Amino acid sequence: MAALAATGAVAVAAGILGVLAPVTGSSLPSLPSVLLGAAFSPSAEDGFIPDGSRVDLADEQLPAISRLDPQLLAAMRAAEADAAGDGIRFEVTGGWRSPEYQQWLLDTRIAEVGEETARAYVATPEQSRHVDGDAVDIGPVDAQYWLISYGSAYGICQTYANEPWHFELATEPGQDCPDMRTDATG
Ligand SMILES: [Zn+2]
Repeated sequence: MAALAATGAVAVAAGILGVLAPVTGSSLPSLPSVLLGAAFSPSAEDGFIPDGSRVDLADEQLPAISRLDPQLLAAMRAAEADAAGDGIRFEVTGGWRSPEYQQWLLDTRIAEVGEETARAYVATPEQSRHVDGDAVDIGPVDAQYWLISYGSAYGICQTYANEPWHFELATEPGQDCPDMRTDATG
């Protein structure tokens, strides 16, 4: 599936470039990744969550949720149940992502805001904890504040200083969270 999609992206990119040479797998690295990004369109199968779609931790039909690490998912659900007592609801704005989706995110952000800013917020597919299913992005702000305040009781920590929405299992329940990394480049 992913291989087919990538081949299609190459064909489209090659068409844009007017490349006449036959398209083969070996031509992949020579094409600018931003062109591949422009041709790729992430779907729910890639873990794509459209803006404003109100996904939550119970939406197990979505790979964005079902492919999260089971321990992270269990900890987040336990936290969510307790936060509900404070009238707080967790909304998932980012969960598991395919490597193709992560690369598309990075390429799209680079095109929008430039390389330096994009890389501070979006990790490469090799480095992203979302691709491993080990990170989840949560909104709205009151839910973020609740998790930042009480998440460590469940082992949940904010791990990037510039991303108050991004949480990982990063400590033993009840222990302090480790020092945050500055941003996605660190
Ligand atoms: Zn994140």
